[in-house]
Amino acid sequence: MTFAGTAKRSELARLNGTGARGAAETAGSPLQQVGESENFRVLSSGAEPVDPGVLKQCEQLRAQLYRTWTNAEPQHAWRPRCEIVLHGSDAAYARAVGPAAARTVASSLTRQIPGRDIVRHIDIRATRANWLTSALPHELTHVFLADCFAGQKLPRWIDEGAAVLADPVRKQQLHLADARRALAAGNAFRAVELLSLKDYPTSDRWTVFYGESMSLVKFLVDRRSPADFLEFVQIALSRGDVAALEEIYQIASVAELERSWLAELSGQTKSIVTLPRNNP
Ligand SMILES: [Zn+2]
Repeated sequence: MTFAGTAKRSELARLNGTGARGAAETAGSPLQQVGESENFRVLSSGAEPVDPGVLKQCEQLRAQLYRTWTNAEPQHAWRPRCEIVLHGSDAAYARAVGPAAARTVASSLTRQIPGRDIVRHIDIRATRANWLTSALPHELTHVFLADCFAGQKLPRWIDEGAAVLADPVRKQQLHLADARRALAAGNAFRAVELLSLKDYPTSDRWTVFYGESMSLVKFLVDRRSPADFLEFVQIALSRGDVAALEEIYQIASVAELERSWLAELSGQTKSIVTLPRNNP
């Protein structure tokens, strides 16, 4: 599972000053530049050469994200370019990402520089065969969302829920199964909990968090459109969840949202779904 996010990490400093190349060289994994395109700079720490065609695929993915979520082409170039480091070994990935590496296959990092653009950085454990179709779209979604809501802190359920929608369908199905299992067991997050989470939950609840976040974002996206969902997010950030639910989805409360969402999530098995009993 791609457990990853836009959290600041301890190695943030390497995005300033010496840059990623200097830090990785110190760690014994010299970075080689694969190439640059309009919006990306790709680096590799592996011994195997990387096909420069990956840059074109990054550009295509970026354009596709904008079209999907905004019905429009990107309006501006990313400056500085989004830097993507393809780690050729698990050890190199772990050195770059830190403790979170143990449970992630990729990680993104974005940071708003006051008065300037956003620093965008993605680390990918390129030892995984499907990183191009799985980890990269997921992490690029995080970067895209950071661009859309620059300077604002996105709720985690929105950030991860939307990113998981870029994962392969099979992976999404596994996340959905996690959510259904937690609901049936009575240990799922209530909607009000999910919406109010300030950060990631403890790691023992990651599977249900990702599953429910994906399910809830998909429920809202399907109800209208991806662009309407982003409008919901903008209103939620400025005026709160309830105002946004009312204005975009004509849903009067978080409780009503939960009823409608769970009815859809459970589908034909609605009658066996039980809500957690010990939560507010
Ligand atoms: Zn993520």
